Amino acid sequence: MSAVWEIGSSTADPDVRTAEPGTLGGMQGTRRFEGPSDLHLHSTHSDGTESPAQVMQSVHRHGLRTAALTDHDTTSGWAEAAEAAGSLGMTLLPGMELSARHEWRSVHVLAYLFDPDHPELRAMTDRIRSSRLDRARIMADRIARDYELHWDDIVAQTIDGATVGRPHIADALIARGLVRDRAEAFSSILNPQGDYYVALFAPDPVTAVRIVTDAGGVAVIAHPAGRAGLLPHRILDGMLEAGLAGFELGHRENLAGGIRTLRRIVAERDLIVTGSSDYHGLGKPNLPGENTTTDDMVARIIQRATGSAPVYP
Ligand code: AMP
Ligand code: FE
Ligand code: FE
Ligand code: ZN
Repeated sequence: MSAVWEIGSSTADPDVRTAEPGTLGGMQGTRRFEGPSDLHLHSTHSDGTESPAQVMQSVHRHGLRTAALTDHDTTSGWAEAAEAAGSLGMTLLPGMELSARHEWRSVHVLAYLFDPDHPELRAMTDRIRSSRLDRARIMADRIARDYELHWDDIVAQTIDGATVGRPHIADALIARGLVRDRAEAFSSILNPQGDYYVALFAPDPVTAVRIVTDAGGVAVIAHPAGRAGLLPHRILDGMLEAGLAGFELGHRENLAGGIRTLRRIVAERDLIVTGSSDYHGLGKPNLPGENTTTDDMVARIIQRATGSAPVYP
């Protein structure tokens, strides 16, 4: 595969397209991306409602010039996003939001600029996506006992090969007129405490970070200070030892107390801090650019990554 994000891939003008990892420090003042940056966006390749190209257009319309596509457990949107970014004159950081689990709670690990062909990472995302499909079928069967809902309704809400999740079941429930919106579906039928919920397979957070790091990527915990509270320090320490680069402190779901604690860890360990929207198109109220990442932090992510390169305009 010779994709534009391949490290060292040559084009007619290698200085324009090819990012050598680790050289940004010497390029201060000539950064090839433009901030502010939004590094957490979803498309129809997972649970967003816009195609990767539409996501890039939406982000551009909101005045952003650097973005990362971070669909859940898949890289299948990268090519389309790269092409759209190119035609819009934007910089794209190919990324992903990798599912992980600590005991009962789901943990989301944002991964940037990893090698999409890394065998262990591919095997892991394949396994998660296939477990998500099985799990959605079981949930659909359980829901069908009480509501007029069929598996075909859910299939109709997903594009071929997409990472299937509860949001697609929510969209099927909306289409059937059983709930008003995704938020209502999540607080009722899709609630983890309810009778219909089934957990999906996901690696533990330390393994998730280790695999991303082994694939040359940069791992950042998504919305790390949400309602579920911070992960135990023992797990955070394990993740940092496995190569965790930082925290997404700018996210609407983070709570102030947790942010304060994480800021202390960031200062002690000189970690990367990001801010992003977690845009899902119409699937969530989150809008591109509602939180952003500073140029210095984007530069640190690019400098640290060895798995793939950004797509520059
Ligand atoms: P799953 O990974 O299939 O269990 O579904 C979790 C996904 O649902 C997350 O990625 C969120 O983007 C989305 N989600 C969670 N809660 C809500 C909500 N209240 N409204 C819309 N989307 C949600
Ligand atoms: Fe999502
Ligand atoms: Fe998430
Ligand atoms: Zn997300």
